[in-house]
Amino acid sequence: MSQPIVVPGGPPVNIILLGPPAGGKGTQANFLAERFGMVHISTGDLLRARAKFLPSLAEYLSSGRLVPDDVVVSMLKERLADSDCSRGVLLDGFPRTRAQAESLEKAGVNISAVIHLKVADEVVIERIAGRRIDPLSGKIYHVKDNPPPPDVARRVIQREDDTPEKIRTRLVTYHQERDAILDFCGNRVKTIHVGDGSPEALPADVRPMCVFDEVRKALEGDAYWGSVIRSELIAKAFECGTSSSTMVSLARFFEHARFRLVQKGCLADAAASSAQVVLRSQSLQLASTLQPLVHYDLRTWLEEVRMHSVLLGHTISRRSLRGTETVADGWATLVFLDGRGRAMEVPGAAQLQDLAMSRAPKSSRTNPPKVIAERMGDAPGNCWHHDSCVAAVDVDLRGRVHEASCLAYMDRWRFLAACNGGYPPELEMSILRARTRQAYVAYMGYAAAGDRIHVRSWARATEEGILLAFDAAKDSSSLLQGCLLLSQEDLSKL
Ligand code: ADP
Repeated sequence: MSQPIVVPGGPPVNIILLGPPAGGKGTQANFLAERFGMVHISTGDLLRARAKFLPSLAEYLSSGRLVPDDVVVSMLKERLADSDCSRGVLLDGFPRTRAQAESLEKAGVNISAVIHLKVADEVVIERIAGRRIDPLSGKIYHVKDNPPPPDVARRVIQREDDTPEKIRTRLVTYHQERDAILDFCGNRVKTIHVGDGSPEALPADVRPMCVFDEVRKALEGDAYWGSVIRSELIAKAFECGTSSSTMVSLARFFEHARFRLVQKGCLADAAASSAQVVLRSQSLQLASTLQPLVHYDLRTWLEEVRMHSVLLGHTISRRSLRGTETVADGWATLVFLDGRGRAMEVPGAAQLQDLAMSRAPKSSRTNPPKVIAERMGDAPGNCWHHDSCVAAVDVDLRGRVHEASCLAYMDRWRFLAACNGGYPPELEMSILRARTRQAYVAYMGYAAAGDRIHVRSWARATEEGILLAFDAAKDSSSLLQGCLLLSQEDLSKL
């Protein structure tokens, strides 16, 4: 359990943002101020405003040297005495020396957390060299990563201290002082690595919203799980075994990770603005079966934000002497429904868009409805028919069939049909024996316990293996269409 340091609407807290020049402190401060209502105080901005009337100050700023502690400290104290600071403050650019950090304590300013943005020097240099400022709005642009619109481009300026030599001076000073400040702040420091080569580092060209995702995780503790759900698990014996049981277990693990994204992860705000969030389609691909007592890493992330749905990616992998081996992966689309059950535009799509991290080439993503339609075609007139009844054990808290149970049902129907002569006789033995490698499901409706379901299933032999199609309906309205790919190949890589 990690306790939240800041709660939206909760008691005011003061936070320090520590990082190199152009490390993204200002941007994060704006996000934080918006979310938690604190006041953003940038000592750089305060000093620049004063330097217009004080040439001695201007000299420090244009050279990139630090302004003497006593000047900055008294200026900050004056600002902290303003009434708005009782909402809590975000200190951006202060402290820059250990003496400044100590002065906060002496002044009785209680600091709850220090967000330390550890950004590689090369990243900083690249960012500053391209940094441009709109003198009218104060907005910051980057010539390459975030170019100003044409009408603004004509008036943007480069800060006097943003030249390569002055950046180096500022970086040297920063590195000299940083460790002493971190040391003073002790366990209040939360470090976020950007492009610094550490295993947990975010990529150098990371989007600001992804950094904010990490900042939120650091400050909100277990109240926010972020846009990537990572967990480790040891599969239990009953979750392993055949590819069919692995498939069902994976559906359960992935469902749980999605639940976390929707409850307390990056989709929580979007979910709160809709009546319900439902699964529209999913696909699962197995490379090998789960084995008991083996450690697995599970990851679920926001892959893409579309007009009416979000696409999530899943993987489960195991670390071995040979490196990291993917055991299975999958995709799932979620839709947000309004009170009348109609799909809404994804709430807060613009912000979510910035969190989406497309890791796989589009072509490798499977679109279940398309796969099902292309591979299976329409049900032949003489296909296997069966009536099932939904068992109470298969429904979730909302009274709907668990997605893992949907996969389990498809597997049960497969055996029922095969044993009742529902498939071509020459495929029957293979259908009973072959392993499931892929599953695609598209959900059109949802069944509840006790519902009678009418199922149709048919099989087709292809080069990839045997394809089984399932089409389930309740009162002649479609509930789900699914497709399993079975193959004789050995899946169990022990
Ligand atoms: P950056 O973080 O990109 O260096 P800032 O706007 O924070 O930009 O600071 C600009 C300049 O203002 C610094 O190079 C330094 O001269 C001065 N300055 C800002 N904050 C402090 C501080 N806490 N102590 C001393 N000098 C400061």
